[in-house]
Amino acid sequence: MLTAPGAVAVTGDWPEPECGPDDVVLAVRAVGVCGSDLAVVDGRRAVPSLPWAVGHEAIGDIVRVGANVERGRIGERVAVEPNFPCLSCTACAAGRTAVCPRRRSLGINEPGALRERVAVPARFAWAAPEGLADEDLVCVEPLAVALAATARAGLAAGERCLVVGAGAQGLLVCLAAHGIGARPFAVDPHEGRLATAVGLGAAVAPDGETFPVVFETSGSPAALEAAVERCAPDGRIVLIGQSATPARLSTFTVVQRRLTLLGCLIYDHPADFAAALQRAADLRPGRILRGRFPLAAAPDAFAQARDLPGKTWITFEHLEDAPR
Ligand SMILES: [Zn+2]
Ligand SMILES: [Zn+2]
Repeated sequence: MLTAPGAVAVTGDWPEPECGPDDVVLAVRAVGVCGSDLAVVDGRRAVPSLPWAVGHEAIGDIVRVGANVERGRIGERVAVEPNFPCLSCTACAAGRTAVCPRRRSLGINEPGALRERVAVPARFAWAAPEGLADEDLVCVEPLAVALAATARAGLAAGERCLVVGAGAQGLLVCLAAHGIGARPFAVDPHEGRLATAVGLGAAVAPDGETFPVVFETSGSPAALEAAVERCAPDGRIVLIGQSATPARLSTFTVVQRRLTLLGCLIYDHPADFAAALQRAADLRPGRILRGRFPLAAAPDAFAQARDLPGKTWITFEHLEDAPR
């Protein structure tokens, strides 16, 4: 629970979730820590109330189903798609659910998933493909973000791309790019993060070289300047990282180079999430996991996530006991 900006505590008094007729209740196995969770924890992103349950990249086992949900789903291992569009507005009707104005998101405006039990609408609890490791399953949600961004960029096989920022999301963009036969290069001021990207098949971007596609994943305003600098004429700059701080950008550069700036917000339901689940066995996104913390050490996970290379994740007891 976030108890105050910057303060995370493990508490035992959160109520059991209600299971609505179209919901399932999960016994959570693990939750990945993401940049947007850190923004919530730091107080950079306001939450409706305190204490607040954080986290959205959850996997678990269905332990209860609502009246309208097939009883056979009890026991199913699932990944949560944590953004719930309304599915009835104009954007949703057009399949552009990411921009649904009534979208609810776990950990942002709905209590988060870093809890022993969490209720989610059944259609947003996706059955794990047979044999997919928990490590890969817990990374399916951020993988969906990366795959949607590469698709939106129109990244093609054989194309070179630059990934600015080798945090968890940057690493997944590298894996996604590699997966379609493109050639990812990475830059990051943090040597450990850059080394992790190289270990996953990215190349270090040579100084001064420009690229037809640049993914900005860090959200740092200075990184946007670097992204523009490194984008070749007629190139696309794909923005995944977010910051409310204005960045310095010269329209002269953008116009003279005929650059396209593309904002990428999560993914559209259901096709993008289904695609990520389907690609997970092949791309093995669990390779980006590094720091692993038991639930009791969740405060340490949030304190250290920013400085650890790779993705930090938090695992629950019944998983910790299992042989690996
Ligand atoms: Zn996330
Ligand atoms: Zn909608």
